[in-house]
Amino acid sequence: MESVKCLIIGSGPAGYTAAIYTSRAALNPVVYAGLVPGGQLTTTSQVENFPGYPDGVAGTVMMDDLRRQAERFGADVRHGEVTAVDLSQRPFRVTVDGTHEIFADSIIVATGAVAKYLGLPSERKYIGMGVSACAVCDGFFYRDRDVAVVGGGDSACEEALYLATLCRKVYLIVRRDILRASKHMQQRVFENGRIEVLFGYQTEEVLGDDGGVTGARVRGPEGVERVLDIEGFFLGIGHTPRTEIFRGQLELDDEGYIVTSGTGSGSTALLGSTETSIAGVFAAGDVADRVYQQAITAAAAGCRAALDCERFLIE
Ligand SMILES: Cc1cc2nc3c(=O)[nH]c(=O)nc-3n(C[C@H](O)[C@H](O)[C@H](O)COP(=O)(O)OP(=O)(O)OC[C@H]3O[C@@H](n4cnc5c(N)ncnc54)[C@H](O)[C@@H]3O)c2cc1C
Repeated sequence: MESVKCLIIGSGPAGYTAAIYTSRAALNPVVYAGLVPGGQLTTTSQVENFPGYPDGVAGTVMMDDLRRQAERFGADVRHGEVTAVDLSQRPFRVTVDGTHEIFADSIIVATGAVAKYLGLPSERKYIGMGVSACAVCDGFFYRDRDVAVVGGGDSACEEALYLATLCRKVYLIVRRDILRASKHMQQRVFENGRIEVLFGYQTEEVLGDDGGVTGARVRGPEGVERVLDIEGFFLGIGHTPRTEIFRGQLELDDEGYIVTSGTGSGSTALLGSTETSIAGVFAAGDVADRVYQQAITAAAAGCRAALDCERFLIE
Protein backbone atom coordinates (compact mmCIF):
# COMPACT_ATOMS: atom_id res chain seq x y z
CA MET A 1 0.00 0.00 0.00
CA GLU A 2 1.15 3.56 -0.73
CA SER A 3 2.70 5.48 2.20
CA VAL A 4 3.07 9.26 2.40
CA LYS A 5 4.64 11.59 4.95
CA CYS A 6 1.99 14.26 4.67
CA LEU A 7 -1.51 13.97 3.25
CA ILE A 8 -3.55 17.13 2.69
CA ILE A 9 -7.31 16.77 2.38
CA GLY A 10 -8.82 19.71 0.47
CA SER A 11 -7.65 22.11 -2.22
CA GLY A 12 -8.95 25.50 -1.11
CA PRO A 13 -6.67 28.35 0.05
CA ALA A 14 -5.87 26.40 3.25
CA GLY A 15 -4.99 23.13 1.51
CA TYR A 16 -2.91 24.70 -1.25
CA THR A 17 -1.03 26.99 1.14
CA ALA A 18 -0.25 23.98 3.35
CA ALA A 19 0.94 22.22 0.17
CA ILE A 20 3.26 25.13 -0.77
CA TYR A 21 4.89 25.11 2.66
CA THR A 22 5.13 21.33 3.13
CA SER A 23 6.51 20.77 -0.37
CA ARG A 24 9.17 23.43 0.20
CA ALA A 25 10.03 21.60 3.44
CA ALA A 26 10.57 18.39 1.42
CA LEU A 27 7.61 16.55 2.97
CA ASN A 28 6.41 15.50 -0.52
CA PRO A 29 2.76 16.24 0.26
CA VAL A 30 -0.08 14.50 -1.54
CA VAL A 31 -3.19 16.70 -1.89
CA TYR A 32 -6.63 15.24 -2.53
CA ALA A 33 -8.68 17.97 -4.18
CA GLY A 34 -12.17 16.63 -3.44
CA LEU A 35 -15.34 17.37 -5.35
CA VAL A 36 -14.56 21.09 -5.63
CA PRO A 37 -10.95 21.41 -6.82
CA GLY A 38 -9.79 24.88 -5.80
CA GLY A 39 -12.49 25.17 -3.12
CA GLN A 40 -15.23 27.74 -2.60
CA LEU A 41 -13.50 30.60 -4.40
CA THR A 42 -13.96 28.79 -7.70
CA THR A 43 -17.69 29.49 -7.31
CA THR A 44 -17.25 33.26 -7.21
CA SER A 45 -16.43 35.60 -10.06
CA GLN A 46 -14.16 38.24 -8.57
CA VAL A 47 -12.02 38.25 -5.42
CA GLU A 48 -11.13 41.80 -4.49
CA ASN A 49 -9.79 41.49 -0.94
CA PHE A 50 -6.93 39.01 -1.27
CA PRO A 51 -3.62 40.86 -0.84
CA GLY A 52 -1.39 40.93 -3.89
CA TYR A 53 -4.07 41.41 -6.55
CA PRO A 54 -4.50 45.20 -6.86
CA ASP A 55 -7.07 44.86 -9.66
CA GLY A 56 -8.91 41.91 -8.13
CA VAL A 57 -8.75 38.42 -9.58
CA ALA A 58 -11.19 35.76 -10.75
CA GLY A 59 -11.61 33.09 -8.05
CA THR A 60 -10.75 30.33 -10.54
CA VAL A 61 -7.57 32.13 -11.65
CA MET A 62 -6.40 32.70 -8.10
CA MET A 63 -6.90 29.07 -7.14
CA ASP A 64 -5.17 27.92 -10.30
CA ASP A 65 -2.22 30.17 -9.35
CA LEU A 66 -2.09 28.59 -5.89
CA ARG A 67 -2.21 25.05 -7.32
CA ARG A 68 0.56 25.78 -9.82
CA GLN A 69 2.68 27.36 -7.07
CA ALA A 70 2.29 24.22 -4.91
CA GLU A 71 3.06 21.92 -7.85
CA ARG A 72 6.19 23.91 -8.73
CA PHE A 73 7.70 22.72 -5.44
CA GLY A 74 6.61 19.13 -5.97
CA ALA A 75 3.17 18.86 -4.32
CA ASP A 76 1.27 15.95 -5.82
CA VAL A 77 -2.26 17.30 -6.38
CA ARG A 78 -4.71 14.54 -7.21
CA HIS A 79 -8.37 14.24 -8.08
CA GLY A 80 -10.30 12.24 -5.53
CA GLU A 81 -12.46 12.51 -2.45
CA VAL A 82 -11.37 11.08 0.89
CA THR A 83 -14.27 8.86 1.89
CA ALA A 84 -12.98 7.34 5.15
CA VAL A 85 -10.17 7.78 7.65
CA ASP A 86 -8.93 5.59 10.48
CA LEU A 87 -7.09 7.81 12.96
CA SER A 88 -6.90 5.21 15.73
CA GLN A 89 -3.18 4.54 15.10
CA ARG A 90 -0.26 5.91 13.13
CA PRO A 91 0.36 5.74 10.30
CA PHE A 92 -3.23 6.81 9.62
CA ARG A 93 -5.23 4.82 7.09
CA VAL A 94 -7.03 6.94 4.49
CA THR A 95 -9.50 5.68 1.87
CA VAL A 96 -9.98 7.63 -1.35
CA ASP A 97 -13.11 7.29 -3.49
CA GLY A 98 -14.11 4.22 -1.50
CA THR A 99 -11.36 2.04 -2.95
CA HIS A 100 -7.80 3.38 -2.92
CA GLU A 101 -6.04 3.12 0.49
CA ILE A 102 -3.05 5.15 1.66
CA PHE A 103 -1.02 5.24 4.88
CA ALA A 104 -0.14 8.76 6.07
CA ASP A 105 2.32 9.77 8.81
CA SER A 106 0.50 13.07 9.18
CA ILE A 107 -2.69 14.64 7.87
CA ILE A 108 -3.71 18.23 7.30
CA VAL A 109 -7.49 18.57 7.13
CA ALA A 110 -8.59 21.54 4.99
CA THR A 111 -12.06 20.45 3.89
CA GLY A 112 -13.79 23.82 4.38
CA ALA A 113 -17.37 24.63 5.31
CA VAL A 114 -20.42 25.01 3.09
CA ALA A 115 -22.78 27.97 3.54
CA LYS A 116 -26.39 27.10 4.30
CA TYR A 117 -29.04 28.37 1.91
CA LEU A 118 -32.82 28.40 2.24
CA GLY A 119 -33.18 25.98 -0.65
CA LEU A 120 -35.46 28.12 -2.83
CA PRO A 121 -35.03 27.61 -6.61
CA SER A 122 -35.13 31.41 -7.09
CA GLU A 123 -32.33 31.81 -4.53
CA ARG A 124 -30.12 29.29 -6.36
CA LYS A 125 -30.79 31.09 -9.66
CA TYR A 126 -29.30 34.37 -8.39
CA ILE A 127 -26.27 33.06 -6.45
CA GLY A 128 -23.44 35.38 -7.45
CA MET A 129 -25.96 37.81 -8.99
CA GLY A 130 -27.20 39.38 -5.76
CA VAL A 131 -27.57 36.30 -3.56
CA SER A 132 -24.57 35.89 -1.27
CA ALA A 133 -23.63 34.04 1.89
CA CYS A 134 -20.77 36.40 2.74
CA ALA A 135 -21.39 40.05 3.62
CA VAL A 136 -17.69 40.79 4.14
CA CYS A 137 -16.91 39.39 0.65
CA ASP A 138 -19.74 40.99 -1.30
CA GLY A 139 -21.13 43.88 0.80
CA PHE A 140 -18.87 46.36 -0.97
CA PHE A 141 -20.80 45.81 -4.23
CA TYR A 142 -24.01 47.07 -2.55
CA ARG A 143 -22.86 50.44 -1.22
CA ASP A 144 -25.81 52.84 -0.86
CA ARG A 145 -28.24 50.14 -2.02
CA ASP A 146 -31.00 48.32 -0.14
CA VAL A 147 -30.35 44.72 0.90
CA ALA A 148 -31.83 41.98 3.09
CA VAL A 149 -30.24 39.49 5.46
CA VAL A 150 -31.93 36.23 6.44
CA GLY A 151 -31.47 34.79 9.92
CA GLY A 152 -31.91 35.60 13.57
CA GLY A 153 -28.68 34.43 15.20
CA ASP A 154 -25.35 36.06 15.86
CA SER A 155 -24.07 35.58 12.30
CA ALA A 156 -27.14 37.18 10.74
CA CYS A 157 -26.95 40.13 13.13
CA GLU A 158 -23.25 40.54 12.44
CA GLU A 159 -23.88 40.48 8.68
CA ALA A 160 -26.69 43.04 9.08
CA LEU A 161 -24.51 45.34 11.20
CA TYR A 162 -21.64 45.06 8.74
CA LEU A 163 -23.90 45.79 5.77
CA ALA A 164 -25.48 48.73 7.61
CA THR A 165 -22.09 50.46 7.47
CA LEU A 166 -22.23 50.35 3.65
CA CYS A 167 -25.83 50.04 2.54
CA ARG A 168 -28.72 52.49 2.65
CA LYS A 169 -31.17 50.09 4.23
CA VAL A 170 -30.89 46.55 5.60
CA TYR A 171 -33.95 44.36 6.20
CA LEU A 172 -33.28 41.58 8.69
CA ILE A 173 -35.73 38.77 7.89
CA VAL A 174 -36.30 36.70 11.04
CA ARG A 175 -38.47 33.57 10.93
CA ARG A 176 -39.33 33.62 14.64
CA ASP A 177 -40.59 36.50 16.75
CA ILE A 178 -37.31 36.85 18.62
CA LEU A 179 -33.62 37.13 17.80
CA ARG A 180 -31.38 34.28 18.98
CA ALA A 181 -28.34 36.55 19.02
CA SER A 182 -26.65 37.71 22.24
CA LYS A 183 -28.35 40.56 24.10
CA HIS A 184 -25.53 42.92 23.24
CA MET A 185 -25.80 42.08 19.53
CA GLN A 186 -29.59 42.51 19.63
CA GLN A 187 -29.22 45.91 21.20
CA ARG A 188 -26.80 47.03 18.48
CA VAL A 189 -29.22 45.84 15.81
CA PHE A 190 -32.25 47.57 17.37
CA GLU A 191 -30.32 50.80 17.84
CA ASN A 192 -29.11 50.88 14.23
CA GLY A 193 -31.30 53.24 12.25
CA ARG A 194 -30.52 51.54 8.93
CA ILE A 195 -31.71 48.08 10.02
CA GLU A 196 -35.38 47.14 9.98
CA VAL A 197 -36.10 43.81 11.67
CA LEU A 198 -39.00 41.85 10.15
CA PHE A 199 -40.09 39.40 12.85
CA GLY A 200 -42.12 36.35 11.87
CA TYR A 201 -41.30 36.64 8.16
CA GLN A 202 -40.29 33.90 5.73
CA THR A 203 -38.84 34.40 2.26
CA GLU A 204 -41.00 32.84 -0.43
CA GLU A 205 -39.14 33.99 -3.52
CA VAL A 206 -36.09 35.97 -4.52
CA LEU A 207 -37.10 38.22 -7.41
CA GLY A 208 -34.81 39.26 -10.22
CA ASP A 209 -34.08 39.78 -13.88
CA ASP A 210 -31.10 39.39 -16.20
CA GLY A 211 -29.21 42.00 -14.18
CA GLY A 212 -29.59 40.14 -10.88
CA VAL A 213 -31.73 40.46 -7.75
CA THR A 214 -34.44 43.12 -7.74
CA GLY A 215 -36.46 42.11 -4.70
CA ALA A 216 -37.73 39.48 -2.32
CA ARG A 217 -41.28 38.33 -1.71
CA VAL A 218 -41.73 37.61 1.99
CA ARG A 219 -44.71 36.47 4.04
CA GLY A 220 -45.23 37.69 7.58
CA PRO A 221 -47.52 37.22 10.55
CA GLU A 222 -51.13 36.39 9.63
CA GLY A 223 -50.07 35.65 6.08
CA VAL A 224 -49.37 39.23 5.09
CA GLU A 225 -47.29 39.39 1.91
CA ARG A 226 -44.68 42.05 1.34
CA VAL A 227 -42.29 42.71 -1.52
CA LEU A 228 -38.96 44.19 -0.49
CA ASP A 229 -37.15 46.29 -3.09
CA ILE A 230 -33.60 45.07 -2.62
CA GLU A 231 -30.56 44.39 -4.77
CA GLY A 232 -28.68 42.11 -2.40
CA PHE A 233 -30.03 39.05 -0.58
CA PHE A 234 -27.63 37.78 2.09
CA LEU A 235 -27.84 34.48 3.95
CA GLY A 236 -26.84 34.59 7.61
CA ILE A 237 -27.96 31.15 8.68
CA GLY A 238 -24.54 29.63 9.17
CA HIS A 239 -22.26 27.09 7.54
CA THR A 240 -21.89 23.32 7.66
CA PRO A 241 -18.27 22.28 8.21
CA ARG A 242 -17.21 19.31 6.05
CA THR A 243 -16.34 16.99 8.92
CA GLU A 244 -18.62 13.95 8.41
CA ILE A 245 -15.70 11.54 7.92
CA PHE A 246 -13.99 12.70 11.11
CA ARG A 247 -17.03 12.39 13.39
CA GLY A 248 -16.21 10.14 16.37
CA GLN A 249 -12.47 10.39 15.68
CA LEU A 250 -11.57 14.07 16.05
CA GLU A 251 -12.99 16.38 18.68
CA LEU A 252 -15.64 18.59 17.08
CA ASP A 253 -17.53 21.52 18.59
CA ASP A 254 -21.31 21.73 18.90
CA GLU A 255 -21.63 22.90 15.28
CA GLY A 256 -19.27 20.24 13.92
CA TYR A 257 -16.16 22.41 13.48
CA ILE A 258 -12.84 20.72 14.30
CA VAL A 259 -11.47 21.84 17.65
CA THR A 260 -7.78 22.75 17.54
CA SER A 261 -5.58 23.61 20.48
CA GLY A 262 -5.37 27.13 19.06
CA THR A 263 -9.14 27.53 19.41
CA GLY A 264 -9.43 25.63 22.70
CA SER A 265 -9.45 27.20 26.12
CA GLY A 266 -7.49 26.85 29.33
CA SER A 267 -3.79 26.55 29.91
CA THR A 268 -3.26 23.95 27.17
CA ALA A 269 -4.47 26.37 24.49
CA LEU A 270 -1.56 27.25 22.26
CA LEU A 271 -2.19 30.47 20.40
CA GLY A 272 -2.93 29.75 16.76
CA SER A 273 -1.93 26.08 16.86
CA THR A 274 -3.65 23.80 14.33
CA GLU A 275 -3.18 20.60 16.37
CA THR A 276 -6.36 18.57 16.70
CA SER A 277 -7.29 16.06 19.40
CA ILE A 278 -5.17 13.44 17.57
CA ALA A 279 -1.38 13.95 17.45
CA GLY A 280 -0.26 14.13 13.84
CA VAL A 281 -3.59 15.44 12.51
CA PHE A 282 -3.85 19.20 11.91
CA ALA A 283 -6.81 21.28 10.77
CA ALA A 284 -6.74 24.53 8.79
CA GLY A 285 -9.17 26.97 7.23
CA ASP A 286 -12.94 27.20 7.45
CA VAL A 287 -13.28 23.62 8.74
CA ALA A 288 -11.77 24.78 12.03
CA ASP A 289 -12.84 28.42 11.99
CA ARG A 290 -16.43 29.42 12.61
CA VAL A 291 -15.56 33.10 12.95
CA TYR A 292 -13.43 34.56 10.16
CA GLN A 293 -14.01 32.31 7.11
CA GLN A 294 -12.01 34.31 4.59
CA ALA A 295 -9.53 33.18 1.95
CA ILE A 296 -6.64 35.01 3.61
CA THR A 297 -7.37 33.57 7.06
CA ALA A 298 -7.71 30.08 5.55
CA ALA A 299 -4.39 30.50 3.74
CA ALA A 300 -2.74 31.71 6.96
CA ALA A 301 -4.06 28.69 8.82
CA GLY A 302 -2.74 26.44 6.03
CA CYS A 303 0.70 27.94 6.61
CA ARG A 304 0.45 27.33 10.38
CA ALA A 305 -0.72 23.74 9.83
CA ALA A 306 2.24 23.06 7.54
CA LEU A 307 4.71 24.44 10.10
CA ASP A 308 3.01 22.51 12.94
CA CYS A 309 3.11 19.35 10.82
CA GLU A 310 6.76 19.79 9.91
CA ARG A 311 7.67 20.27 13.58
CA PHE A 312 5.65 17.20 14.53
CA LEU A 313 7.39 15.00 11.94
CA ILE A 314 10.84 16.20 13.01
CA GLU A 315 10.11 15.51 16.67
C1 LIG B 1 -19.50 32.59 -3.28
C2 LIG B 1 -18.36 32.85 -2.33
C3 LIG B 1 -17.61 34.00 -2.46
C4 LIG B 1 -16.56 34.24 -1.59
N1 LIG B 1 -15.82 35.37 -1.76
C5 LIG B 1 -14.76 35.58 -0.97
C6 LIG B 1 -13.93 36.73 -1.18
O1 LIG B 1 -14.19 37.55 -2.06
N2 LIG B 1 -12.87 36.89 -0.35
C7 LIG B 1 -12.57 36.01 0.66
O2 LIG B 1 -11.58 36.19 1.36
N3 LIG B 1 -13.34 34.93 0.88
C8 LIG B 1 -14.42 34.69 0.09
N4 LIG B 1 -15.21 33.61 0.32
C9 LIG B 1 -14.89 32.73 1.45
C10 LIG B 1 -13.71 31.81 1.05
O3 LIG B 1 -14.01 31.21 -0.18
C11 LIG B 1 -13.45 30.76 2.11
O4 LIG B 1 -13.25 31.38 3.37
C12 LIG B 1 -12.22 29.95 1.76
O5 LIG B 1 -12.35 29.36 0.48
C13 LIG B 1 -11.99 28.83 2.78
O6 LIG B 1 -10.88 28.11 2.35
P1 LIG B 1 -10.64 26.60 2.82
O7 LIG B 1 -9.38 26.19 2.18
O8 LIG B 1 -10.76 26.50 4.28
O9 LIG B 1 -11.87 25.76 2.25
P2 LIG B 1 -12.59 25.68 0.84
O10 LIG B 1 -12.26 26.77 -0.07
O11 LIG B 1 -14.04 25.46 1.18
O12 LIG B 1 -12.02 24.32 0.23
C14 LIG B 1 -12.36 23.08 0.77
C15 LIG B 1 -11.73 22.01 -0.10
O13 LIG B 1 -11.88 20.75 0.54
C16 LIG B 1 -12.24 19.78 -0.42
N5 LIG B 1 -12.87 18.68 0.28
C17 LIG B 1 -13.95 18.68 1.10
N6 LIG B 1 -14.19 17.43 1.57
C18 LIG B 1 -13.22 16.64 1.03
C19 LIG B 1 -12.93 15.25 1.11
N7 LIG B 1 -13.65 14.42 1.85
N8 LIG B 1 -11.86 14.76 0.41
C20 LIG B 1 -11.09 15.60 -0.35
N9 LIG B 1 -11.31 16.91 -0.44
C21 LIG B 1 -12.38 17.42 0.22
C22 LIG B 1 -13.14 20.54 -1.40
O14 LIG B 1 -13.20 19.86 -2.64
C23 LIG B 1 -12.38 21.86 -1.48
O15 LIG B 1 -11.35 21.75 -2.43
C24 LIG B 1 -16.27 33.33 -0.54
C25 LIG B 1 -17.04 32.18 -0.39
C26 LIG B 1 -18.08 31.93 -1.28
C27 LIG B 1 -18.88 30.66 -1.13
